[in-house]
Amino acid sequence: MTVTDYAPEIIVRTGSAVHTTCPYCGVGCGVLIEHSVTDGLQLRGDPDHPANFGRLCSKGTRLLETIGTDERLLQPSILGRSADWDEALEHVATSLARIRDEHGPDAIAFYVSGQLLTEDYYVANKLMKGFIGSANIDTNSRLCMSSAVAAHKRAFGEDIVANCYADIELADLVILVGSNFAWCHPVLYQRLTAARADHGTQIIVIDPRRTATCEDADQHLPIQPGTDAWLWNGLLAHLSGHGFISSDTLPAHHGLSDAIALAQNDTPDSRSTAKRCGLTELQVQTFFERFAQTAKVLTIFSQGINQSSSGVDKGNAIINCHLATNRLGREGAGAFSITGQPNAMGGREVGGLANTLAAHMDFDQADRVGRFWNAPEIARQPGLKAVDMFEAVRNGSIKAVWVMATNPAASMPDANAVREALANCPLVIVSDCVARTDTLDFAHVRLPATGWGEKDGTVTNSERRISRQRAFLASAGLARADWWIITEVARRMGFAQAFPFQSAAEIFLEYAALTNFENNGARALNLAGLLRGGVPSYDTLKPVQWPIPLDEDSAQTRPSLADLAEAPIGTPRLLGDGRFYHADGRAHLVPITPRGPANTLAAGEMALLTGRIRDHWHTLTRTGRSPTLSQHIDEPVLAMHPVDATRLGVEEADLADITSAWGTGIARVVISDEVREGDVFLPMHWSRTTSLSGAVDGLVKPAVDPISGQPEFKHTPVRITRSLVDWQGVFMGGNELPHDRTLVHATRARGPEGYRWKLAGRGSPQAFREAVNTQLGPDVMSARYADEHSGHQAWMWYAQSRVIALAFVGPSTRSLPSVTEMAALMSTTIETGRAHRLLAGVLSDPGTDAGPIVCSCFGVGRNTLARAIEEGLASDVGELGHHTRAGTNCGSCRPELRKLLRNLQTTPVP
Ligand code: SF4
Repeated sequence: MTVTDYAPEIIVRTGSAVHTTCPYCGVGCGVLIEHSVTDGLQLRGDPDHPANFGRLCSKGTRLLETIGTDERLLQPSILGRSADWDEALEHVATSLARIRDEHGPDAIAFYVSGQLLTEDYYVANKLMKGFIGSANIDTNSRLCMSSAVAAHKRAFGEDIVANCYADIELADLVILVGSNFAWCHPVLYQRLTAARADHGTQIIVIDPRRTATCEDADQHLPIQPGTDAWLWNGLLAHLSGHGFISSDTLPAHHGLSDAIALAQNDTPDSRSTAKRCGLTELQVQTFFERFAQTAKVLTIFSQGINQSSSGVDKGNAIINCHLATNRLGREGAGAFSITGQPNAMGGREVGGLANTLAAHMDFDQADRVGRFWNAPEIARQPGLKAVDMFEAVRNGSIKAVWVMATNPAASMPDANAVREALANCPLVIVSDCVARTDTLDFAHVRLPATGWGEKDGTVTNSERRISRQRAFLASAGLARADWWIITEVARRMGFAQAFPFQSAAEIFLEYAALTNFENNGARALNLAGLLRGGVPSYDTLKPVQWPIPLDEDSAQTRPSLADLAEAPIGTPRLLGDGRFYHADGRAHLVPITPRGPANTLAAGEMALLTGRIRDHWHTLTRTGRSPTLSQHIDEPVLAMHPVDATRLGVEEADLADITSAWGTGIARVVISDEVREGDVFLPMHWSRTTSLSGAVDGLVKPAVDPISGQPEFKHTPVRITRSLVDWQGVFMGGNELPHDRTLVHATRARGPEGYRWKLAGRGSPQAFREAVNTQLGPDVMSARYADEHSGHQAWMWYAQSRVIALAFVGPSTRSLPSVTEMAALMSTTIETGRAHRLLAGVLSDPGTDAGPIVCSCFGVGRNTLARAIEEGLASDVGELGHHTRAGTNCGSCRPELRKLLRNLQTTPVP
């Protein structure tokens, strides 16, 4: 049987609701899915979920746009040939067993993902470490927060996030470090701005870029990239020198005196700190004093800290300041690592990283895990971390790699080397829910996995809260749950006894039992309390924060009565009671000697920083399917300071060539003083599948933190020059780009009419026109209109009165008609003879374009908002909302509305 299509089958009963979670960021918002005959599927934020209390951001709001039928992987295949599950699973199992027999267990690797559910992660880890006998399983969370994991373990003795989201509302000062909170964790940002409106929470942002998050900040420290550890060391020296560290704390914490002494060496005062960090002394002084004078300080840190060749030290430098002043694990006070992915935490808990075992045990406890699993061959040594793992694939020592729910050919640093590794690997297995990714291009075996809406299991968010993801759709085609695929392979490899699982619930209960196994209070991660109700309790599980002790008497850290009332068996905060998980029971401060980025900049080089944008997620395999989310920023844009743009002779909307020692790329220039002089910023989302030359991670250096192995995505030396192209344009007409060698740049975005491509080429655009003719075939008619004065041309292809494709090209994109006008033509019924008039009308009359979408919920464009401001209709965010509806639903665009008001008004914005 060949599966080519499917219609999503809704399994939520009409009149009932499914409580599930959003699959994007680490906030872990609860989502409610309802179905009615009249309205079909409906989605809204779950008012009862403690992460979001009903809020959703722009990405969460548009989740139903991403569950469509196109580009789903529906059937297993082997070497491009469709197969049934039995054949595919047998092929995978026998191939892995053969490679293990011939080359040993370390010749096999799994590369998994924070998109997997905890149950998927658990069985993948159990198979690899417990039964194949190698620890070569690593996760894309390595790229996201492994430095925070290492920092936690060094400081606390275990990977523990001490605080909870409620502390955002309880803090008097929130410091956001290396986090564009407004775009990357929008619902938490909404909770923060609501708290600020309610009781005046102070906000400090420490970030080289002036991001959207700065719109609501009291202070922005535009720190020189890579210098954070100097700033926090400087703060520690200041706190010590000005009597803010209690003499009781010194003996309570291990290493405090040494940490202070080292900090005082290099950054004894605000002046030396400012010099190190590229800030003014006043900026640093103000920051130091605000921290020192405020008891309830919550420091939230994210990828800007973690994605560094010294990310672990930076994390510990932050934690040191909180430990030294007893501002940790307390109401409104703590150092809070926020994860990027929906289940990065779940992966950490079950041992998804190559250097940990399951249930927060390390390799010195391999014997214990081996006894629990009855796995005498369990791996005894850490495996290879992501960058080293793909290097081992490249040099041939790893001969089989199984990639699950991630896209390393696009998302790894030095992605071109990863592509080379996958191209030369004897066996590449990819499990995914989508049919097209850069990584799937290299797969010998493709295994269709269930996607969001079809999956059933648990995730853990950034505050240790375990929530259920529940299915409301039947599996697409032949897709199966990841845990089922892994379990079936394990059974076929001869490990059936250890993999008896018939459901995600059974896996979770085994995992929960492992957390309690020979624990005796040595490990905070304990889910024994969830074992009581068995599978029925799992099915009805409400969001709960671990530890979840078996009963109150065995609580490792007893929650307060108020906490117990709020979350009967969960634990909102840890460590605030002075109980740590090192053998000596103390917190360990780590003396930090700060280091700069791995590569210094040579003359003419700039520092490339990469990161997320508001409405997209990872490599666009889901958000890229949403027409709404694709309109906010619809192509890779390179943000550059005006001084650099002048120096390089680059203008707004030009294309720029970006060259590093690892690769090349092209992106559209946005000139902005929101980036520092000498830095450029490029979004991480575009891959080769979605952009001919805008894939970012081929440019990024593979330097990693020596402890965590996390790559340094925030500081790659690059050179920028203006791209020399002869024409640019827009093409609408299908998912596939016509093959034309003269194209040098092409990026696709989803519009209501289908995919649209922004193009640039060298030579004559006629080559592209001919490529489209060839692709569409002889039965399709075409019409052309040219404006000799502007040099623009328009082509239309049509058949049987229907427009099939359109292209508008010219010397630059600046004077092309709006894509909205072009898209309107795609739904036009055409009669021969009208084509030229239609093309001429659009080309000569750009009309009133709404501009790039700012408010995704209501499709409100920048130009519409600008008109409302300039005509005096709106002078604040509320009035803008009243006149345009922008910002009145999910709230994700409110920082941009404030910025627009600030830029377009002469009077101050309230
Ligand atoms: Fe999803 Fe947005 Fe909530 Fe993150 S903040 S979990 S992306 S709805």
